[in-house]
Amino acid sequence: MTITTDHVIPFNRPHLTGDESELIAAALACRSLEGDGRYTSRATDLLTKMVGATSALLTTSCTHALEMSALLLDLEPGDEVVMPSFTFPSTANGYALRGAVPVFVDCRPDTLNMDERLLEDALTERTRAIVVVHYGGVACEMDAIMEIADRHDLPVVEDNSHGLGASYRGQQLGSLGVMATQSFHSTKNAHCGEGGALLFNGTDHLQRAELIREKGTNRRQFFRGEIDKYQWVDIGSSYLPSDLLAACLIAQLENFDAIQARRLQVWDIYQERLAGWAERNGVVQPTVPEECAHPAHLYYLLLPDLEHRHALMDHLAARGIRSAFHYMPLHSAPAGRRYGRTAPGGCPVTERVADQLLRLPVYTDLTDSDVERVLEAVTSFRVRA
Ligand SMILES: *Cc1c(COP(=O)(O)O)cnc(C)c1O
Repeated sequence: MTITTDHVIPFNRPHLTGDESELIAAALACRSLEGDGRYTSRATDLLTKMVGATSALLTTSCTHALEMSALLLDLEPGDEVVMPSFTFPSTANGYALRGAVPVFVDCRPDTLNMDERLLEDALTERTRAIVVVHYGGVACEMDAIMEIADRHDLPVVEDNSHGLGASYRGQQLGSLGVMATQSFHSTKNAHCGEGGALLFNGTDHLQRAELIREKGTNRRQFFRGEIDKYQWVDIGSSYLPSDLLAACLIAQLENFDAIQARRLQVWDIYQERLAGWAERNGVVQPTVPEECAHPAHLYYLLLPDLEHRHALMDHLAARGIRSAFHYMPLHSAPAGRRYGRTAPGGCPVTERVADQLLRLPVYTDLTDSDVERVLEAVTSFRVRA
């Protein structure tokens, strides 16, 4: 076995553009610390334009943005929300908090997105919403999903944590559902450590969202001078990030193209230079349908089975390369079973790919020699026949 003296290549390294310190220092200098200050408004404008949404509100996380969407949809105990099983727990959590029942649908074996062919069978009298996750920023089959949603008069929420900068038939992800959520957690393409946003397409939920985000008060209207006192008018919570985090986010959004250029480059190199090895070893690479432009949020390989996934992970670790796997399917997770329900047919594809999937490091700070080391390490691994 090779004993490497090279540095360890971490699985993720949050990229800093270089503009963060100056922006945060400027926010500090003008005492712009609380939420909804001038930096929040600048970051919000940048984000709204990038996605082409009607409007946006920065939040403390994508998890909180999803919680807000559940409040805005007025979900009641027993209402059902259809979503993929192959996703992060936050996709389901906000709805379960309202007493709604997440209904878990299996994923497509190619894009690992919720299988739109199974969607209609998952709907019942109690279905109130459909939540899609664009896995790796590769869009779901939105034409089919929107057609089903329209026919059943159901709102679609996009959990667009992975999909900033991605598109489907030329339309930005995050601009397709009535609401969409973003994450600016430090593992995402653009980040401020912890943060998120709720995007709106159309004006249906805008007014109430401002109340919900401000502890159920009309404080935002008060600050705009629209009313002469503010008070408690609705249920809500405190979902505003500090202006300091918004300042950090501005640096990321303003430099998004540069962040993306390197990520896309790394992704393309993996896809091209692992193709022969993958083919010979029965390993499956990501599928990106023609109508989708993806943002290189993540790169994964599907190994033949769990044993090979572990073996490749160990093989990489021995060469100083950290890799990762996800997601533990929600339908079979302890909380998924307690609060949710599995759609007819179960989730056999989700269960299989959750065992097979291995993620390689993809981030802006990976050097050319890091990428070469990853390629060399992966291609020196053999799948046993
Ligand atoms: C990262 C992620 C979230 C949670 O984002 P936070 O901002 O950390 O709350 C939710 N859903 C998906 C699919 C994610 O990848």
